[in-house]
Amino acid sequence: MSKTVLQRHLFGPGPCNPYPEATAALGLPLLGHLDPEFIARMDRVANGLRTLWGTENSRTLPLSATGSAGMEAAFVSTINPGDVAVIAINGLFGERMCEVASRVGAEVVRVDHEYGTPINAQRVAQAHPNPAVIAGVHAETSTGVVSDIAALGAIKGDALLITDAVTSIGGMPVLADEWGIDVGYAGTQKCIGVAPGLAPFTISDRAFERRVEKPQSWYLDLGLLGGYATGATGGQRTYHHTAPVSMVASLEAGIDRILAEGLDAVTARHQEAGTLLQEGLQEVGLELFAQEGFRLPQLTTVNVPEGVDSAKVRGYLLDRFNIEIGGGVGKYASTVWRIGMMGPNANPGSVALLLTALKEAID
Ligand code: PLP
Repeated sequence: MSKTVLQRHLFGPGPCNPYPEATAALGLPLLGHLDPEFIARMDRVANGLRTLWGTENSRTLPLSATGSAGMEAAFVSTINPGDVAVIAINGLFGERMCEVASRVGAEVVRVDHEYGTPINAQRVAQAHPNPAVIAGVHAETSTGVVSDIAALGAIKGDALLITDAVTSIGGMPVLADEWGIDVGYAGTQKCIGVAPGLAPFTISDRAFERRVEKPQSWYLDLGLLGGYATGATGGQRTYHHTAPVSMVASLEAGIDRILAEGLDAVTARHQEAGTLLQEGLQEVGLELFAQEGFRLPQLTTVNVPEGVDSAKVRGYLLDRFNIEIGGGVGKYASTVWRIGMMGPNANPGSVALLLTALKEAID
């Protein structure tokens, strides 16, 4: 069998295996990006994303790039040179926020947390008296930790709250309006169960009104993008860039799949799979990395046992079982495994397969 048609079980930190409906939609006949049918599809996708984001924001759209571009769009649109950005860091993606914010000229005030622990909103509140922006990651994929974004919303004051929901959206409740998220970005390749390539994005009216007039990025200029996504303005759709038509069709299929099952049922399914996995790992004597009480169900971090070669185990899983899991990040690269049960993989069968295979790989 050619390597190109290998079917992997993608149980790493993402991408996960997509929903079959999302894969099938990639093969639909291509539409022109200004075709009325496509424009109607964009509107439906924007509506679906509003449901996943828990928002009424009119400016909710799939940016034509991956989650990191969502992060860039968030900072380039809200930071004028010299503005203070208070950034909570409890993993790699908080670190990345600092890098992106400093490149657009922010005075970055770091609030460092130990990896494996959640964001402490009181520490964030005390970091600076009047920041322009406060930012934090909801589900830190690098450490497997969930943080309380509502608590950041409660202390944000006049600042805009930027939230990374790349790994949380579609897998656990995200309530952008209720929590006070002003700018949120996500990705398609995790719990939404679609291939990587788009960044579901939402921005409140308050943040849009305060946006940078002429941001350094033309491609990610939200003022220009308003016309690109008709659902964002209710007005005439205008050409900005050629929409990734097939990816938008796939995203629509993924969203439809989630909403047909019911968003609550989908998040409950992720919770159940995560609990089963974490219990199963602990039953065979493995220790979890993330602090108890703040563990993501969709992405579990496990300490590699003493004397076990992390890379060897991962290689064995891939070669023998076609199972991909992730290594750790930074100084935890070879001491932590990251196991994702996302999208269609969030089910007891995948958990049982992973546990059986991992036990064999470790022995
Ligand atoms: N933020 C988080 C929490 C992530 O997990 C990722 C990717 O894994 C990103 C941002 C970056 O997204 P992408 O790799 O799609 O650019």
